[in-house]
Amino acid sequence: MSKLRLAIIGAGPAGIYAADLLIKSELRDFDVSIDLFDLLPAPYGLVRYGVAPDHPRIKGIIRALYEVLDRGDIRFFGNVEYGKDITLEDLKQHYNAVIFATGAIRDANLNIPGIGLDGSYGAADFVNWYDAHPDFPATWPLNAKEIAVIGNGNVALDVARVLAKLPEDMLSTDIPAHVYEGLKASPVTDVHVFGRRGPAQVKFTPLELREACHIEGVDTIVYDEDFQYDEGSQEAIDSNNQTRVMVNTLEQLREEKQSGGKRRLHLHFMSAPVEVLGENGKVVGLKIERTKLDGHGGAVPTGEFREYPVQAVYRAVGYFGSELDQIPFDSKAGVIPNDGGRVLDQSGNQIPGVYATGWIKRGPVGLIGHTKSDALETIGHVIGDRSLWWSPANPEESAVEDLLSQRGIEVIDWKAWLRIDEKERSLGEAQGRERIKLYERSEFMAAAK
Ligand SMILES: Cc1cc2nc3c(=O)[nH]c(=O)nc-3n(C[C@H](O)[C@H](O)[C@H](O)COP(=O)(O)OP(=O)(O)OC[C@H]3O[C@@H](n4cnc5c(N)ncnc54)[C@H](O)[C@@H]3O)c2cc1C
Repeated sequence: MSKLRLAIIGAGPAGIYAADLLIKSELRDFDVSIDLFDLLPAPYGLVRYGVAPDHPRIKGIIRALYEVLDRGDIRFFGNVEYGKDITLEDLKQHYNAVIFATGAIRDANLNIPGIGLDGSYGAADFVNWYDAHPDFPATWPLNAKEIAVIGNGNVALDVARVLAKLPEDMLSTDIPAHVYEGLKASPVTDVHVFGRRGPAQVKFTPLELREACHIEGVDTIVYDEDFQYDEGSQEAIDSNNQTRVMVNTLEQLREEKQSGGKRRLHLHFMSAPVEVLGENGKVVGLKIERTKLDGHGGAVPTGEFREYPVQAVYRAVGYFGSELDQIPFDSKAGVIPNDGGRVLDQSGNQIPGVYATGWIKRGPVGLIGHTKSDALETIGHVIGDRSLWWSPANPEESAVEDLLSQRGIEVIDWKAWLRIDEKERSLGEAQGRERIKLYERSEFMAAAK
């Protein structure tokens, strides 16, 4: 066989890195032809639809991903959903193998009473709204003055920052008008972030934490009673530079005077959420149980409870992958069961021709850069498994285009994406911004033509 025809499902960083690394791999002694599919009319996955709009430096990774796709040796098929527009059977007819890089877009569950009340939201849904994901509603109920955010990772900080930030400070970003108008109408005064453990156990990264401590017009407040350190904390502080930096940042915050800003961001530690409180079906508060450290950096309950009056609760307790048609799924971990990227059936045997990479392979943790090492491992197996590849009946590059066209699917190819990209840039330019995102699928389709 002289050529590998490879389908990659998901044009987020994991899918794009996998394609790029395979093309550049020195282990490869065969030609390769890669088609990259995404259900969205836009590439870049969570870099476009997860990373916060006010993080232009991270969004800048899009430039590197753009350069990979713009080389012309990877074909982009946007607006094509695996499981609906194209099936596993179709892929077997047209390709030698498939890599699933479908990431995660939903919130993990948090099973506490009241979590289903009106006013209790998943962070992922809010992120999808402010990042203008075309498959999520255009409106978001921002009517709470006091808000609780549950979680001590970067997504919790993103959500809290976007909620607390003065809307005019979001105007330089790529958010479309409906998102700006929504944020502008928010009456919020206080955003409370709750974490179960102490300052030495937070899962933030230093840059995000520092940013949360210095939001224009917002006072960030910490509480002395939350500053608990045990032996486990001390070990972490001594051995881990990142922990040390974060503890220092939080300790400095203890000393800072408040400026009397219009809005406040409260960082609470040693507080485990136990119930979302409601009245008439609506959120009216969050009940937490105070915790204490167990000596090893873990937290145990103390039996002391507190209630915070809030009118909205956002849970930022992790993302979760979605099951794909005809592909095994681990419903506990939210991933495709795999061994280093080789997808496994229920008995733990490798399914020939089927691979996974990125968040759907490893779970929704880690930064964009981690998807690169992930991809390297997976493509190593694709190359090594040559004897297990499928033998497609229609491997010609035109065959899959014909199939999608017969099905009436309006594919957004790379040229069409460049027209959409241009449209977003020109919308931005008119307002002195780098770009303004399109939102409706119909807008994408119109700009693509
Ligand atoms: C809110 C948030 C903020 C973040 N901020 C940062 C940050 O500041 N810095 C950082 O380094 N990392 C950040 N991350 C992490 C980063 O986004 C992930 O590490 C990375 O995007 C995972 O890449 P992926 O390609 O596996 O998945 P994704 O980026 O989710 O890409 C998966 C792609 O697959 C597509 N897809 C899914 N199902 C199908 C289907 N059935 N058919 C076709 N296509 C499909 C999706 O549309 C999507 O485009 C953040 C994550 C979140 C959630």
